[in-house]
Amino acid sequence: MTEEQEAVKTICPYCGVGCGIKVQPGAKPGDMRFVPWGDAPVNEGRICIKGGAATEVVDHEDRLTDPLVKEDGEFREASWGEAFDRVVGELERIREEHGPDAMGFFGSSKTMNEENYLLQKLARRYGTNNVDNCTRMCHASTVWALRTSLGAGAMTNSMADLEEAADVFWIQGANPGEQHPIANSQYFRQAVLEGATVIQVDPHANKTTRSFQIEETDRHMHLQLNPGTDIPLLNVVIKTVLENGWIDEEFVAERTEGFEHLEETLADFDREEAAEQCGVPLEDIELAAEKYAMANNAAIFTGMGMSQHTCGVDNVQNEINLALVTGNVGRPGTGVNPLRGQNNVQGTCDVGAMPNVLPGYQPVDDDEARKSVEAVWGFEVPPEPGLTNVEITRAAGDTVAGLYIMGENPVMSEPDGNRVEERLRELEFIVAQDIFMTETAKYADVILPATTWAERGGTVTNTDRRVQRMRPVRKVHGNTKHDLEIVSEVGTRLFGEGFDFEDPEDVFEELRQVCPSYHGMTYDLLGEEGIHWPCYEPGDEGDPYLYEESFDTESGLGHIEGVRHQPPRETPDEEYPMILTTARLEEHYNTGTMSRRSPTLNRQHPENFVDIHPNDAERYGVSDGEDVTIRSRRGEITVRANVTEAIKEGSIWTTPHFAAASANRLTNDVLDERAKIPEYKAAAAEIEVGVEP
Ligand code: SF4
Repeated sequence: MTEEQEAVKTICPYCGVGCGIKVQPGAKPGDMRFVPWGDAPVNEGRICIKGGAATEVVDHEDRLTDPLVKEDGEFREASWGEAFDRVVGELERIREEHGPDAMGFFGSSKTMNEENYLLQKLARRYGTNNVDNCTRMCHASTVWALRTSLGAGAMTNSMADLEEAADVFWIQGANPGEQHPIANSQYFRQAVLEGATVIQVDPHANKTTRSFQIEETDRHMHLQLNPGTDIPLLNVVIKTVLENGWIDEEFVAERTEGFEHLEETLADFDREEAAEQCGVPLEDIELAAEKYAMANNAAIFTGMGMSQHTCGVDNVQNEINLALVTGNVGRPGTGVNPLRGQNNVQGTCDVGAMPNVLPGYQPVDDDEARKSVEAVWGFEVPPEPGLTNVEITRAAGDTVAGLYIMGENPVMSEPDGNRVEERLRELEFIVAQDIFMTETAKYADVILPATTWAERGGTVTNTDRRVQRMRPVRKVHGNTKHDLEIVSEVGTRLFGEGFDFEDPEDVFEELRQVCPSYHGMTYDLLGEEGIHWPCYEPGDEGDPYLYEESFDTESGLGHIEGVRHQPPRETPDEEYPMILTTARLEEHYNTGTMSRRSPTLNRQHPENFVDIHPNDAERYGVSDGEDVTIRSRRGEITVRANVTEAIKEGSIWTTPHFAAASANRLTNDVLDERAKIPEYKAAAAEIEVGVEP
């Protein structure tokens, strides 16, 4: 084997578990292939179907290979010089004519820390905080609740300590069996085989449910609640804990604040009525409460079934309430743990690609924080938080005139996709930086062809705060550029200085100066193992679990706050009598830009479908496998019916991955008031049968 052919150690480009993989370069780009990395720190060589197929799209025939500019409504090839001139010229024109807040910048959870860091710096140097990324769509509410009530918007614990120490896994609104397969099989299932109990709370029976139905154990419960009833269910649990005296009094007295508010909130709470509302037998919820409260160490896992609601912040707050009243935070095997979707969704937020925070979650409206960052950057940052990505799209053609999109696909990823398309048509200028012609890039004026995950280096931060290095295997198309090079060139042409970096490491060196929780990391120290943040000084080993002695809140106490049920903004009515809920599949990845082009993944699920309960199917006269149209107030899609008891009667379930029939043509763009996350998980819908296939 020649030196050139040696396999390169890098990180899987898909989910937030952050599995290490090796990639063999092969003789030519199309030969690039996955090989196991046996002692990879997170996964020890194990891999799921997505990770194993990740190299399939690197040299895909649909790759964008040259810059494109739109002329008379058609794209034509252009030189990089012409494309950069057009981008810089339009950015300057928009700022001059409308002011800097007329631009929006979308970072991406699929790109690396250095790239997102530089993009948010570009936005702020341009003069706006209108910069966001797709974590807004998945865990903005989780981050909000965790930051406010505990201190950091991230997993409190790590997968390894959870496997070793947790006796009970409370998994609510998350489906690790499907979306974090290696975390599920390597850590959670292993713990169950060794005696841990899983309590799953979800309207949908899914791969997670099946993975824990282990013969001869009764260590799995599935509370199949109605969509949007997570607060009442958790209130039944908490009230059961309070009434039975299962609280950790010492922990509540010494380490928390707000317990009285929770007691007051639940004083008149009727558990029987709430259980009925949830559609779950009261005795099952009580039994689950007992199992959680009686465990030595109980850990909560939370996912988008909790966060993607107009009450997303309150949903997660109630999980925090449960953990705090039972003293299940600050030790191995405990805590409140969001399972993050994409391979760098945690890092993209950590490095400040959000409208309200600078790198390291320093509030942009905090004068002291801003000044400390400005001292490194050498320019002033606007003091007012900017618009979130859904707000930017809504303002398109109104107060927003232009969009800079790095690796995002809002036509597919944002709710109410038809309206997103209308809005994009209203913009004066869009630049899209991507590897494929996405459904969004079609609306761009300039397309900048970027390189894929296997072609460039940098760092990504996985779901348990582990910062790891990605390493380049080889470049595939000569006229493409790395995201970092592109943003660097745009910044240098616009501002002359502050964007000229040699390589990703050079950017990371600046990032660690302004991001306290990354300050102690260097590329050398990250090595092959990576480091969990916070890592304040070189030599800190990083914390696998947080809050052992105090919380990172102003008072140092964990914040408890009672919450009440808030129904989804749309509830079933005569015209739209079903509740539509959405989620992802193991074999596909978000908007499907990569996974739909992977032959292995696409073979598993080539098209969308909808799960319908047999009783609803009978009522509507739907046969299994028949094409049906699903309609909401915002649009319609035609998909194959999958008649199954996996979904609750009265609800239907489908996915956002497929351009031809994406769930997001139907979803509602109403937002959680604080976190601005859309309500993907509940919309009123109707089924129509007898449609032409
Ligand atoms: Fe990649 Fe996630 Fe699968 Fe690991 S579990 S191989 S990170 S998709």
